Formats: sequence, C-alpha cells, structure tokens
Amino acid sequence: MENKENYQKYFENEVNLLQKAGKKPKLLLHACCGPCFTLPYELIKGNFDVTIIYNNSNIYPEEEYHRRLDELKKYVSEVAPEIKIIEFDYDNVSYNKDLEPYANDREGNERCRICFRKRLTQGFAYAKEHGFEYFGTVMTISRYKNSQDLNHIGLELEKEFAPVKWLAADFKKNDGYNKSLVIVREHKMYFQDYCGCKFSIRHSKPE
Ligand code: SF4
Repeated sequence: MENKENYQKYFENEVNLLQKAGKKPKLLLHACCGPCFTLPYELIKGNFDVTIIYNNSNIYPEEEYHRRLDELKKYVSEVAPEIKIIEFDYDNVSYNKDLEPYANDREGNERCRICFRKRLTQGFAYAKEHGFEYFGTVMTISRYKNSQDLNHIGLELEKEFAPVKWLAADFKKNDGYNKSLVIVREHKMYFQDYCGCKFSIRHSKPE
C-alpha cells in the first residue's frame, strides 16, 4: 500500500521557514467556494500576501457557479476586504470535454484527478505570468477531496511552472474540516450539497 504523506506538515514547515526568514511572499490561492476558503485562510493569513483565483468552470449549472462566487466574495468582504479575487470566465461546455469519458466515475477517481489538474494548471499558469511566488488551493479542506492526489498534481506542475512554488497542504488535518464548519455556521454561509460538476449532482441526489 502506498505511503501517505502528511502534507499539512509540509505546510507548517514552509510557514516556519518563511517566518524565520521574515518573508511574506505573494501567494495565488485557488478557492472553489466560500466554505472551503474559511479555515485555510485562517492558517495562511499573516504568512502570505494573498490573492484569490476563482477558476471553477467545473461547476454546473451556471447559477451555482455565481452563487458560490458570491458567497466567497461576501465572506472575503467580511474577513479580509483587501484581498483581490481574480475571476475566470465560466465555460462549462469546454471544461466538460475532458471529463465526459469519466462521467460515470464516482467522486474521487480519474474524473476528479483530471478536474484538479485542469484548474491547478490554469492557476499555476496565471501565477507564473503574474509574478506570484507561490500557488496553492484550499480544496484539501474537503473530506471528499483526495489530498494525496491534489498534492501529487501540484508538485508535478511545480516543475513545469518553475519558479512558482506549490504550497503543499492538507487543511483537513487537525480536525480542519469540522473547524471550517464552525466558521460556516457562524457566518451563515451557503453550503452546497454536491461537489460541483453535473456528474457529481447525479451521485449526490436522488434521480
Ligand atoms: S466531483 Fe468535483 S472534483 Fe470530481 S470532477 Fe466533479 S467537480 Fe471535479
């Protein structure tokens, strides 16, 4: 059986090194929705100069894409209004071309690895083009997202997009997921009941 890395230790080590060096580098942080941004931002803030990227054309339907973005914007305006959010155009039709062969996969399989890679590749490319030192995602907070897969993909892309560094993390560690739910409830946030793509709706709701 494959050994699992504790990527939250990677995150903690990186933050310790930056604190010792007195550095606060520019981080482009991918966020898929408001609830998943909550606890990761609590752990990141103060250590990085954060810009958010919202490139989530996986989300279906379009109203849901905007609903999640609006919830993210509302939360950011409450806790860190200085943070800029980069919004990508919504293009679910093109996005789905690579996912459709895996339409019947359950969440957590090849379709999701493709979906992660697409959004992380977009994020790394944007980070490189705009001079960010780090790129990372909040998605490891979700108990439904495979943090090993996300970090493997991030570490592969880091080689392709040097000098941008991947901010390895596993935010669901240390009870992170439940801690995020406390914040979600405090802020009365909308919390979706499916991952995002039209294929995940099928598996999360009765037909
Ligand atoms: S279930 Fe989530 S991660 Fe997997 S393909 Fe759909 S939107 Fe992407």
